[in-house]
Amino acid sequence: MKNIQSYKDKQVLVLGLAKSGYAAAKLLQQLGANVVVNDIKPLEENESAQSLQSIGIRVICGEHPPELVHSSLAAIIKNPGIPYSNPLIQKAVELNIPVLTEIELAYQISEAPFIGITGSNGKTTTTTLIYEMLLTGRKNPIIAGNIGTVACEVVQTASPSDYVVTELSSFQLLGVQTFRPKISVFLNLFEAHLDYHGTKKEYGKAKSNIFMNQTEDDYLVLNADDLEVQTLATTCKARKILFSSKQAIPSGASVIDGFISYCEEKVMKVEEIALPGQHNLENILAAVSVAKLIGIENDAISHVLKTFTGVKHRLQFVTSIQDRLFYNDSKATNILATSKALSSFTQPTILLAGGLDRGNEFDDLKPYLKHVKALVTFGETAEKLIRIAKEVGIKSIEHVDNVEHAVPVAYKLSQPNDVVLLSPACASWDQYKTFEVRGDIFVEAVHRLK
Ligand code: ADP
Repeated sequence: MKNIQSYKDKQVLVLGLAKSGYAAAKLLQQLGANVVVNDIKPLEENESAQSLQSIGIRVICGEHPPELVHSSLAAIIKNPGIPYSNPLIQKAVELNIPVLTEIELAYQISEAPFIGITGSNGKTTTTTLIYEMLLTGRKNPIIAGNIGTVACEVVQTASPSDYVVTELSSFQLLGVQTFRPKISVFLNLFEAHLDYHGTKKEYGKAKSNIFMNQTEDDYLVLNADDLEVQTLATTCKARKILFSSKQAIPSGASVIDGFISYCEEKVMKVEEIALPGQHNLENILAAVSVAKLIGIENDAISHVLKTFTGVKHRLQFVTSIQDRLFYNDSKATNILATSKALSSFTQPTILLAGGLDRGNEFDDLKPYLKHVKALVTFGETAEKLIRIAKEVGIKSIEHVDNVEHAVPVAYKLSQPNDVVLLSPACASWDQYKTFEVRGDIFVEAVHRLK
């Protein structure tokens, strides 16, 4: 790790603990900073804070006293979830104190170059694909951040020949100061997180920070079919590599004559890709661009694409039982995500859906239900889903208690070559703590069918 001096003997406030704040506080202490940690959870219940206290870090828990922010602070490391409307952050902005997120700190000490991936949808899938391609191509990737280990922990042992691969949310990117990835990927921009950013323009601006510090020596991989991404990227100095799932891009990544092509070189046949879905083709083309820029052989790329069947809970292929194909898309917590999942299949499909009622209706799903032969529904939104299933003429409709009960019911309704798809179109919180728990219960129930 780089032994940077910028925090030595400086006062730094770490705001919000969680895993990233904890690792940042320890690292800053190692770099010689005078660290204060502030977290809302009371000290008695706060194991991380207790652990930091035991190594001599000052912790203030249970409240956010305004006097923690003062003009002698060199920086604040803010948990990405804390909004800028927080009074402490507002005071810091007024006093011109840099407000960073942990990823910036990780970048500052890292000897390895960064590959950063952002976009409204597809970050985790693309990040995982890039990681797998680099790994298969023997390039020492390190996955850091939201998936994987906290960035400022793993980069400490990274060497210049490694690559730090990390997905970046708009919240993390707002805290960018010097962060400059060797390769950045900008997948797409949809309306999201407006409660945090206020407007789509602000949201897009935050995402653009991914390339803010890039120069002509770096690369930006971007979606040729997303006009907003294109417009944002006009200010970017890095060399641009375009990808498209819809049009041929001779100087970038696209599908030409049934092949994944990169700069007019054929990488592999599209029909050999294991991961279903048009949206995933976009993620794949972005990942192929990064792999080719790093010099990964086509064999390694195609090996990954022939075998990679999806990140857990994201249209993940679970197994085939008596020729029925089971998919876990528990991450689909809204209509858009479920419509993408349904569009990925043409076979007769049995849809398992339902969950937390946010007050919306599900009519926007109707155009995607043509091949759905049965609906098995559960949770607070069951009645609403039953209404639209009836309206589009789905004959088999079953209302069950939960996901566990839905699986054997779905199996009974299925025939060989059918798809059985958990893609709830709703958050899980009415019945399950997280979408991961819901997906795991589905997968276990499927395996019990055997
Ligand atoms: P993220 O990490 O950005 O949330 P994921 O890779 O976890 O993205 O995918 C989450 C969901 O987003 C998927 O289940 C799918 O419904 C949708 N999705 C994935 N990739 C794309 C894409 N390129 N364009 C649009 N939607 C996508």
